[in-house]
Amino acid sequence: MLNIVLFGPPGAGKGTQSENIINKYALVHLSTGDLFRMHLDEGTELGKMAQGFMDQGKLVPDHVVISMVEDKIKEHLDARGFIFDGFPRTVNQAEALDKMLTNHNLAISGMVALQVPEAELRKRLLLRGQTSGRADDQNEEKISTRIKVYEDETSPVADYYQSQGKFNAIEGVGSIDAISEQISAVIDSF
Ligand code: AMP
Repeated sequence: MLNIVLFGPPGAGKGTQSENIINKYALVHLSTGDLFRMHLDEGTELGKMAQGFMDQGKLVPDHVVISMVEDKIKEHLDARGFIFDGFPRTVNQAEALDKMLTNHNLAISGMVALQVPEAELRKRLLLRGQTSGRADDQNEEKISTRIKVYEDETSPVADYYQSQGKFNAIEGVGSIDAISEQISAVIDSF
């Protein structure tokens, strides 16, 4: 299986690039943000629980995210692989993911980290907020919280994969197609 962690701050283009990758490599797209938004729309208990954290731009507690991801992996054990988008977001989640995969004789093939300057992230998120309807994209304060949460809690996840020799960085600025090509080149090297 080809199991990829697509990593980067909010607004780096993970969702957009995931679409291209799943089409090209026929992988299952496992976006924890999308899963939470689906639960919110459906009004499930999980959605209600996650809403307060999401509205504030904070992370949903690890155990909730981890069990949601575990269920999804178990549903798709026959897949060609997964692209993890927006997960893992803490080192604790990364360790839990490694354990889950090991239990199924699987492993992460590599991480692709999209790097985008902060001013560009803010611009993209505000622009997305005008059309996405996402409450967490619509004001500068929430965007600042999400970027800070990324720096404090999520960026150490890159070091975690670096120490396993699985970290690959890509400049996430430029045309969508040019970035996709660079991502494909990295994936083809896994
Ligand atoms: P995203 O669409 O990836 O930006 O996620 C939207 C929101 O969902 C985040 O700001 C968090 O509140 C929550 N979320 C998504 N993925 C995770 C995760 N792996 N760990 C904790 N919270 C998450």
